[in-house]
Amino acid sequence: MKALIHENVPLAPLTTFRIGGRARYFIDVPTEETVHDAICFAKQKNLPSFVLGGGSNLLVADTGFSGVVIKVDIAGLEWESDRHTTIVRAGAGEEWDRLVALCVERDLAGIECLSGIPGSVGGTPVQNVGAYGQEVSDVLTNVRAYDRHTDSVVELSRDECRFTYRASLFNTTAKDRYIVLRVAYSLRNHGTPSIRYHDVQREFEDKSSTPTLAEVRAAVRRIRARKAMLLVEGDPDCRSAGSFFKNPIISEGEFANLQLRAGAGIPRYPAAPGKVKTAAAWLIEHAGFSKGYSLGPAGLSTKHTLALVNRGGADAEDILRLAREIRDRVYDRFGVKLIPEPVFLGFDSAVCSEFFML
Ligand SMILES: Cc1cc2nc3c(=O)[nH]c(=O)nc-3n(C[C@H](O)[C@H](O)[C@H](O)COP(=O)(O)OP(=O)(O)OC[C@H]3O[C@@H](n4cnc5c(N)ncnc54)[C@H](O)[C@@H]3O)c2cc1C
Repeated sequence: MKALIHENVPLAPLTTFRIGGRARYFIDVPTEETVHDAICFAKQKNLPSFVLGGGSNLLVADTGFSGVVIKVDIAGLEWESDRHTTIVRAGAGEEWDRLVALCVERDLAGIECLSGIPGSVGGTPVQNVGAYGQEVSDVLTNVRAYDRHTDSVVELSRDECRFTYRASLFNTTAKDRYIVLRVAYSLRNHGTPSIRYHDVQREFEDKSSTPTLAEVRAAVRRIRARKAMLLVEGDPDCRSAGSFFKNPIISEGEFANLQLRAGAGIPRYPAAPGKVKTAAAWLIEHAGFSKGYSLGPAGLSTKHTLALVNRGGADAEDILRLAREIRDRVYDRFGVKLIPEPVFLGFDSAVCSEFFML
């Protein structure tokens, strides 16, 4: 099958922000062979390529992208079980939340707290998707990927993916090298659900028996809906990329300084040795921004201060203006620089350095 090449395709409808200009070229790739065709096309044209999944962690520039967008639509699920575990191998184009639902239905534990996260299977290893005490790196065993450097298909083990908080090989040292084709996850048969996070535990305060996987999935989706972190068609609070800023990870010394400025109430979560993770939402709120804050057609979600939303008609510049205001005020108040979580596409290098350099 040959890949179909489209020109000047609007990207905004393919992102959850509903923002951004056009892709010069756009290629849908439903198979591994068409991935190869798409890469050859970009190389022939001497243009950069960008891999698009569900567009849920993406801010596209108003001027669009002058290269080749490769939309990965590889489908397929394979299940392989032994007594204790089931390995599921999922095509990168499968919808992540559909996979979670199917696993929960089959009584497979390990990703139930990742319910309701939008996007594709292929997007999950990129930023090591996580929520409510689980991360995909807890269960991922390997990634099948197309290597743009060698034009070959490779299998990467979990260790080779180098997962940390919201990061992996795919968005750091080997950024733009691999195209994820398929991901394998190892799940526990008839496993008990994970309810490590306070928010989730609270949903079961009145329950004496251990909740089922399905109950935990439902609870996580309820919590997400309350925070507009579940995509609901027509809800303006959902025109976002989820959390716009990462939770800062700082040294113990920096955290001590932060406590001096912010007071004792500042949240602290475990991170790598010698490091502390704190809450971006807390910093934003205590810098004086409240839910629903607006700056023109961009704003903060009315349900969650960490989500920047397109209230309707916002462009990428409106989002950047608001992001700058928040980042700068948090920095002035607390001395911590907030770094965006979504990927920026089509912006010039000055904008990328301004937002992503610490
Ligand atoms: C309402 C909402 C809630 C969210 N909640 C969470 C949350 O709780 N936790 C969390 O971690 N994230 C969350 N997100 C962010 C987002 O859903 C995840 O990061 C998701 O995994 C992105 O997948 P995607 O397919 O949409 O990727 P895209 O947005 O299409 O792309 C994001 C990045 O991944 C790369 N990519 C995508 N597919 C591939 C592939 N096949 N091969 C190589 N690279 C690829 C892209 O090139 C890009 O760099 C949320 C987003 C929204 C809108």
